[in-house]
Amino acid sequence: MLHDKVVLVTGAGSGIGRASALAFARQGATVAVLSRTGDEVSRVAEEIQGLGARGVPLVADVADEGLMRKAIATLADSFGRLDVVVANAGINGVWAPIDELQPAEWDRTIEVNLRGTYLTLHLTVPLLRKSAAGAIVIISSINGTRTFTTAGAVAYSATKAAQLAMAQQLALELGKDGITVNALCPGAIDTEIDQNTERRHTEDAAIPVIWPEGDIPVTHGKPGLPEDVADAVVFLASPAARHITGIPLWVDGGQSLLR
Ligand code: NAP
Repeated sequence: MLHDKVVLVTGAGSGIGRASALAFARQGATVAVLSRTGDEVSRVAEEIQGLGARGVPLVADVADEGLMRKAIATLADSFGRLDVVVANAGINGVWAPIDELQPAEWDRTIEVNLRGTYLTLHLTVPLLRKSAAGAIVIISSINGTRTFTTAGAVAYSATKAAQLAMAQQLALELGKDGITVNALCPGAIDTEIDQNTERRHTEDAAIPVIWPEGDIPVTHGKPGLPEDVADAVVFLASPAARHITGIPLWVDGGQSLLR
């Protein structure tokens, strides 16, 4: 049980972030849920309260320094402490061949996925240092860590590879403060992210491969559920994972071994 813990989850309005926030609430944690869309995080905070835990909505774009400073200041004022950060907010962005991908499109993916992760940690580590057992879970991906066959996803893969590098670098930097830092790398998970993905001429960047029985062995090709990832997020943030730091944990039903 995580009764005495205060948790921040970014990108908590839907998908993996929402499922993780609810999983922490079921363990009795207090959960601050941050995202860009106010009514989504308010709804998730109400769901958390419905589970008998405390939920606080925070609205900010993770790439915006001013908004993030305000949101984390609100969090600090509300609880005076923080034990767990789940840096989850992210976008697929535009997937296109490298010569078609526009500079502004490249920049936006880097801004949200990488600058957003940096800002989230930059602003929360001072609070985590005061915790007896701080934990950071960065939501990376199989893309960029073990899978390089997602056609056109060069900006996305670059950010996800960099998030794993950040987790490994920071595991050492923050280890002396008793803070663990791990990268959770999901495979295909059934969330809203596909609806926010723009694909242009990805066939020109692809090497065609067919998996007649699907590309996710343990589910016969079906995508995983946000809850499959959320359970692993809670584990990495729990006392049971106290000696685990600086690892990529692939939660993908074996998908990244195949592709
Ligand atoms: P999702 O359902 O689209 O949820 C993403 C959440 O992040 C939404 O609440 C979204 O809010 C928020 N968000 C996006 N940009 C933001 C920003 N700039 N500032 C604050 N919040 C922002 O996607 P998901 O699949 O759960 O993805 C969560 C994470 O998992 C991402 O980092 C993604 O790369 C990673 N991942 C997903 C999969 C998958 O198959 N689903 C696989 C591997 C890794 P708004 O809609 O309001 O922007």
